[in-house]
Amino acid sequence: AKKAPPNAILAPNFKFEDMGIGGLDTEFSAIFRRAFASRIFPPGLVEKLGIQHVKGILLFGPPGTGKTLMARQIGKMLNAREPKVVNGPEILNKFVGQSEENIRKLFGDAEKEYKEKGDESGLHIIIFDELDAICKQRGSTGGGTGVGDSVVNQLLSKMDGVDQLNNILIIGMTNRLDMIDEALLRPGRLEVHIEISLPDEAGRVQILTIHTSKMRNNGVMGGDVDLVELAGLTKNFSGAEIGGLVKSATSFAFNRHVKVGTLAAISDDIDQIQVGREDFLHALEEVQPAFGVNEEELQ
Ligand code: ATP
Repeated sequence: AKKAPPNAILAPNFKFEDMGIGGLDTEFSAIFRRAFASRIFPPGLVEKLGIQHVKGILLFGPPGTGKTLMARQIGKMLNAREPKVVNGPEILNKFVGQSEENIRKLFGDAEKEYKEKGDESGLHIIIFDELDAICKQRGSTGGGTGVGDSVVNQLLSKMDGVDQLNNILIIGMTNRLDMIDEALLRPGRLEVHIEISLPDEAGRVQILTIHTSKMRNNGVMGGDVDLVELAGLTKNFSGAEIGGLVKSATSFAFNRHVKVGTLAAISDDIDQIQVGREDFLHALEEVQPAFGVNEEELQ
């Protein structure tokens, strides 16, 4: 009889609020319920239910929205090994023929541990970032090298092999769902698809709160900064762009403490630094969202 798949351990005292992810509560719950919950079922329950763990999920949406952040945090929550993150373009190594070897290596540690420990093995998470880069060339006629083809095939056979392993969860990520080979998305492969979109206003308040928490707690954020106002001014910003905005604002605040005429010299009052509303407004002129300009704005 087939042995029960390994159960991951829920890290003690792990709270969603502490994860540093803003505006993705619903997505997080969906990912957890659909792809991870069975891993923490009591031993034997998965068998009793006659189900299999989900082996792969696909997170799709614009860049910088927290896909990687979320995958890593979920891994931590389940006390999984530090996820292996590989880039699509990285896998499509410049040396043709090596990419398949790269994929084999990627699964190597998990396979080894499963061979040694069987169902006692911990959970291994493998993240394929920019998965579309691998799929791009598959089946393409005009000028494709066929490298993508064989890499996708290798990936498919590895994914199907995961059936025998049970200690692996694959997370694919892409900004281009339309570019992903359908064969990768079938049941038993990357079967759960979750969209991670740009944050709404409430989400942006949360993300701004996360990215300014240190400066607020350390008393270096001006009292005139209103995060709700800033959330209103950052429509179409991704989480990563909000992070960039906070950095830019900090640089404007810092700039006030540089001695005139001697660019490198910091004035003595640097300890008095305050990142204020004006700094954020300056930053808004400098940091612009790259994506998400919607139809109605273009009209
Ligand atoms: P890509 O598609 O470019 O790989 P991604 O969606 O995986 O992007 P991340 O790498 O997770 O994006 O995000 C980059 C950084 O932006 C994070 O480390 C974090 O600092 C910030 N960030 C993005 N989204 C969020 C969010 N929802 N809450 C808090 N910070 C965020």
